[in-house]
Amino acid sequence: MSGLMAALSLRGSGASVMVLDKGRSVGGRMATRRIGPGQADHGAQFLTVRNETFGAWAKQWLDQGWLFEWSRGWSDGSLRPSLEIGYPRFAAVGGMNALAKHLSGQAEQAGTHIHANVKLESVEQTADGWLARDENDVTYSAPAILLTPPVPQSLSLLSAGGVALTDANRTDLESIDYAPSLCGLFWVEGRVNLPEPGVLQTPTAPVSWIADNQRKGISPDAKLITAQVIPHMSREWWALPESETLALIQAEISPLFDPGTRIREAQLKRWRYALSSSTYSNPFMEAEGHSGLLLAGDGFGGPRLEGAAISGLSAGARLKELFGKS
Ligand SMILES: Cc1cc2nc3c(=O)[nH]c(=O)nc-3n(C[C@H](O)[C@H](O)[C@H](O)COP(=O)(O)OP(=O)(O)OC[C@H]3O[C@@H](n4cnc5c(N)ncnc54)[C@H](O)[C@@H]3O)c2cc1C
Repeated sequence: MSGLMAALSLRGSGASVMVLDKGRSVGGRMATRRIGPGQADHGAQFLTVRNETFGAWAKQWLDQGWLFEWSRGWSDGSLRPSLEIGYPRFAAVGGMNALAKHLSGQAEQAGTHIHANVKLESVEQTADGWLARDENDVTYSAPAILLTPPVPQSLSLLSAGGVALTDANRTDLESIDYAPSLCGLFWVEGRVNLPEPGVLQTPTAPVSWIADNQRKGISPDAKLITAQVIPHMSREWWALPESETLALIQAEISPLFDPGTRIREAQLKRWRYALSSSTYSNPFMEAEGHSGLLLAGDGFGGPRLEGAAISGLSAGARLKELFGKS
């Protein structure tokens, strides 16, 4: 989200922009996975809007038919009427990754070069800018570079390239923290008893989020259930064998199954850096003493997709100031 928003904010600036992503397609934690004939969101589940600037973007995406309002709240299984009282939660038509695909399409139309499947291994400073090297030893150079992976991953890239940040920058970056998340995906045949709109959110339970992607409208041909483990239990279960973790998650969701409901396939996704739990005081960082090195992402702009977007837009605006040609 933050990298794509930065690219979009540079449209029309005259700067030549390239987005590199190690994933099979762009989107990062805006992730949707196919299982059998269905699909499931297994990273971000929805987005919320608090900031006016982001609200204007979200409105465009709604008007374009890329987003829909999924709900105004979630039930925790009690009789408390939580559905009517909240603010809107928007999901992407076709799965959250579809929004990333739309944004990358828009950026490409404006001349941005987008390359997936490029896993960077180091970022180094050169006499006239920055050089990124991927795992196949292919290099990419530019006068400026914006790093938007989770901060520990950006720090590894800089350290591999021998970039010595100032003590103050390093200390600030090292204090940006992320909680992990284990996410089970289950292809189910039969009925799963979830309250409207097909979601159960019980913030204190080991599996705090259970959502039916078929009822969400993104998996018409198969019932795929997303089950996310709360951060402290994700830490506790992190190193367990995959089958054991899936069995633990399954034990939490199976009381919702009708008799006869069966699991056809189960998959686990481990998000090491899922949710930023402490963020930097500015929406992005411009490294001291290293001209043209910027860092952004949800570790800066505030947690969630909205924070990532604001961070990317702010970093993009700064790059435009520094390197835009018109
Ligand atoms: C399980 C889960 C549930 C969530 N639920 C919600 C939710 O419901 N609502 C919400 O608003 N937010 C939610 N979030 C948080 C939200 O997904 C993130 O805040 C947001 O996606 C962060 O965007 P970003 O651009 O900062 O980072 P990312 O999405 O992590 O993007 C970083 C990109 O960098 C790429 N990258 C990393 N290292 C390299 C490398 N070496 N070379 C090349 N590319 C690299 C990655 O492939 C990735 O595409 C959730 C996250 C998770 C994991």
